[in-house]
Amino acid sequence: MADRRAPTPEQLAARERELVERLRASCRAYSPIVFATSLGVEDMVLTEVICRERLPIGLFTLDTGRLPTETLALIERVERHYDIRITRYAPRPEAVADYVREYGIDGFYDSIAARRACCRVRKLEPLGRALAGQAAWITGLRAAQSVTRVGLAPRAWDAEHGLEKLSPLIDWSEGEVWAFIRAHQVPYNPLHDQGYPSIGCAPCTRAITVGEDIRAGRWWWEQPETRECGLHRRAEHDAPSP
Ligand code: SF4
Repeated sequence: MADRRAPTPEQLAARERELVERLRASCRAYSPIVFATSLGVEDMVLTEVICRERLPIGLFTLDTGRLPTETLALIERVERHYDIRITRYAPRPEAVADYVREYGIDGFYDSIAARRACCRVRKLEPLGRALAGQAAWITGLRAAQSVTRVGLAPRAWDAEHGLEKLSPLIDWSEGEVWAFIRAHQVPYNPLHDQGYPSIGCAPCTRAITVGEDIRAGRWWWEQPETRECGLHRRAEHDAPSP
């Protein structure tokens, strides 16, 4: 059950100080370091802190070619708001063409294998390019987001890409995230106000109803245990935050 209780201003300020220190420690420990933003609300918390504190962390996003128009508009709005550039990594056109030829443009609805193949082409391969040459990457994962994320560590070795993976919001609650967004008037995706707590590609994301798990709207036709795109496979070893 998501914890939506808002913290007191003092509690929020303490969480914020802790987050800033976590990110600063990450910058001291690793270079170069990048932040993978999907423009979701957790990622907006990190964007605000990274930009405000002028931390030496590059921002990138995976432009899958199937993102909602609201997300595409938010990328540009965030760039203007913070005067930054978010690097877009898109799938290789020939790989998309091969996928469409084999499965059809929306073939991901037909089987888990077809869905994973689409995520591989549109997300995983571009992610590999984005992480090449980096020492660490930062994500906005929270352990409370879904059954697939319970037990995640704040720092873990990403063996597949050969770098550290850092999740400084790992122990934040949904209530803390939204309290931060409101306290600092951080821009966010308007889809969140339309029942989308978790936002991915348009054809694979739906609004949820009251009482549903916050990731129930992602690949809703699959079982909860399979609802990850492969970007966040459990790492080989987990470790405390730097
Ligand atoms: S989320 Fe859906 S559209 Fe996006 S890459 Fe995965 S299967 Fe393809």
